[in-house]
Amino acid sequence: MNVPFNDLSGLHLSIINELMDSFKSIIENSAFVGGKQVEEFEANFASKLGVKHCIGVGSGTAALFVTFKMLGISSGDEVILPANTFFACAEAISLCGAVPVFVDNDEYYNIDVNRISNKITANTKAILAVHLYGQASNIVEIQRICNDNNLILVEDCSQSHFASYRDKKLGTFGQVAVFSFYPGKNIGALGDAGCIVTDNDDLALNLRLFRNHGEYRKSKHQIIGFNSRLDGVQAAVLNIKLKYIDVWNEKRRIAAGYYFELLKNCSSIELPKVMQFSTHTFHLFVIKADKRYELQEYLSKNNISTGIHYPIALPFLPVFSNLNILPEEFPMSLKNQDLLLSLPIYPNINFEQVKLVSDKIIEFYSQHN
Ligand SMILES: *Cc1c(COP(=O)(O)O)cnc(C)c1O
Repeated sequence: MNVPFNDLSGLHLSIINELMDSFKSIIENSAFVGGKQVEEFEANFASKLGVKHCIGVGSGTAALFVTFKMLGISSGDEVILPANTFFACAEAISLCGAVPVFVDNDEYYNIDVNRISNKITANTKAILAVHLYGQASNIVEIQRICNDNNLILVEDCSQSHFASYRDKKLGTFGQVAVFSFYPGKNIGALGDAGCIVTDNDDLALNLRLFRNHGEYRKSKHQIIGFNSRLDGVQAAVLNIKLKYIDVWNEKRRIAAGYYFELLKNCSSIELPKVMQFSTHTFHLFVIKADKRYELQEYLSKNNISTGIHYPIALPFLPVFSNLNILPEEFPMSLKNQDLLLSLPIYPNINFEQVKLVSDKIIEFYSQHN
């Protein structure tokens, strides 16, 4: 038996007829960029999430960049974000000319709210709350900090589509939220795609303008924008997947439940913690493991693929060496980056596969203690 890290081909085969039908219709209508499929997807996604506007864009990275740009984040501004997240979060801030200000993470792998206030200065404009691995950050507390300090709250839900906190969906707490639909995400396109959601009419209009050369109607360029649109084919795929996402997220939670049960007595690893009142969507199932690389190698020899998210926390990347980072401000990230290991998880992983992964982990430590 072999356990891939993700199984996109299996997932797509389960909806292949619907996908093929929609491709046929798009090819017949030549609706490749923007168009009916995109408008339908934007309406469906906004209504499922419970927000006023959804703006489809070319990727999650583009969603972040376009958002910060249209929020007016620019040179001299600072944006607070977690140390342990995907590179694009800091990249988008830097690309706007602003400074990414990193904060260490908490025991749930999300931004540590107790360390945020120390990082707020007169230049701070926004907080980027990333809901990592499929679980809410301490979003109510972050919301309070933003309100108290007059900061914009941006949520990054790229790993947490339709996850919630106290029954409120992530992406509805801030003024604006971004989503990635990179193929491996809980809802993924067949290529790059992303979107931005907001209840703010003015912001939504500017986001729509910016993603399409500053124009809403052909050749009426109102602002300097960019080309970062959502393709018709990707929108069609996302429209189909939107019907299944709740079931797929539930299947991920069931698989996570197997891991929790099968690995509960394995003292050489630490299982992920689920925050109270949080509905986790397990984009990733991340454990902390002693002898991480040896374990990864052992699993690999047994045809089990794993990942590391992320091997170097953002503050320690050479590209940010100009920021005068003090390692002692990031004790958790510093420790975790040597321990984190993402186990295989996807909607159609079965009990036998989870059992095999768990057995092999236990077997590894029985030989290495
Ligand atoms: C994947 C991801 C992104 C970037 O999305 P792309 O679609 O790959 O550009 C941004 N933020 C987070 C947290 C992500 O996981």
